Amino acid sequence: MAAPDPSELPIDTGSVPASESLFARAQAVTPGGVNSPVRAFNAVGGTPRFVASAEGAWLTDVDGNRYVDLICSWGPMLLGHRHPEVEAAVLAAIGRGTSYGTPTVPEVELAEEIVARTPVEEVRFVSSGTEATMSAIRLARGFTGRDVIVKFAGCYHGHVDSLLAAAGSGLATFAVPGTPGVPASSTELTLVLPYNDTAALEAAFAEHGPRIAAVITEAGPGNMGVVPPAPGFNRLISTLCAEHGALFVSDEVMTGFRASKEGHWGLDGKVEGWVPDLLTFGKVMGGGFPAAAFGGRAEVMQALSPVGPVYQAGTLSGNPIATTAGLATLRLATDEVYDHIGRAAEVVKTAAAAALTEAGVAHRVQSTGTMFSVFFTESPVTNFDEARTTDETAYRAFFHAMLADGVYLPPSAYEVWFLSSAHDDEALDAIVSALPRAAKAAAAATDRGITT
Ligand code: PLP
Repeated sequence: MAAPDPSELPIDTGSVPASESLFARAQAVTPGGVNSPVRAFNAVGGTPRFVASAEGAWLTDVDGNRYVDLICSWGPMLLGHRHPEVEAAVLAAIGRGTSYGTPTVPEVELAEEIVARTPVEEVRFVSSGTEATMSAIRLARGFTGRDVIVKFAGCYHGHVDSLLAAAGSGLATFAVPGTPGVPASSTELTLVLPYNDTAALEAAFAEHGPRIAAVITEAGPGNMGVVPPAPGFNRLISTLCAEHGALFVSDEVMTGFRASKEGHWGLDGKVEGWVPDLLTFGKVMGGGFPAAAFGGRAEVMQALSPVGPVYQAGTLSGNPIATTAGLATLRLATDEVYDHIGRAAEVVKTAAAAALTEAGVAHRVQSTGTMFSVFFTESPVTNFDEARTTDETAYRAFFHAMLADGVYLPPSAYEVWFLSSAHDDEALDAIVSALPRAAKAAAAATDRGITT
């Protein structure tokens, strides 16, 4: 795991760190210098590190600094970076050509693997999680012949117009656009409800039931930090959808093949005996390449073109390199991998809680399956409003102290801390050693402490 050869560094920046100089160049040609907003460090301040290479649980930046990676590409790198078998499969696939626009073997095999591990009967590949949820919504509307979509505040499903919606003025009123550029007409058929609120969900069905095409939810939300569904909440969605002829779209882009071997469904639906009508996947199933999918009951999936009338397509959908990487990753994602990540999560959660308690910083560690996050707040977090009580000032100081000590946390207070099967004792020790100083930095930066 050597630092990159300086001769391979992209520019000679003299005494200015290469990341800083690259960020300046990037900002001149790309909005904010990044290709996805959270990478810009706006929430924590400072300069994002430009990564030159990665291996296992470690990132190396263009200045030669090494960091334990707690971003893992925002979820995909379940096996860590450069897993030898994934890399060998990808290199072999590249040697056969990179894209043909015809059916190929790995896309059939990856579809079979997904069908074997999840409750979907048929699956269609796309290139991003956003495309997966957008297509699932279109399919749900086409299948049911209805237009209204229900979503929950704090659940993120990619940058789909109709799902970039903020709650309207009342609970059962339709949404307003969550960003400029989304016309009101794109969100006026979206109902946004508070997460984990069974009364609001029942009221929405009571008032709008015959118009609801689908309820979409993160199977186990991770995009407002980890906010587990209350016991029975996903089951209630399933029951109400079935009673009212709507479809239950369970977004497993983040949780799929990560929260457990069978995704979040393996933790609730499988145990309780219900199955969503449609599921969306991404991240882990692409093995670090742009691949995502949506799937579900054959009867629903058969409404898709070319069998049925609902149109959906993609030039690079099912790309042979991406599906080869995903297939190799899923085949290697055994029970041992999930057990390892679960144990690593326990080590980090326990050490983080101990360090923050010792420093007197209010915090709350929450988990769903092997996924977890740390809120800098004292009370339990069950929905988006409660998530927003997190102390962003404390997180900012904590984040930068961890970074200075070689741990790359997500640059936002509302994210999962992602681990991989490559997070071994060396990586965990580095995290655990960095925590006490970071906790003290958080305590010094804020006047909110633990109340007793
Ligand atoms: N759905 C969920 C639950 C996600 O976490 C994300 C991305 O983080 C998406 C959808 C969108 O996926 P992508 O960023 O690949 O478009």
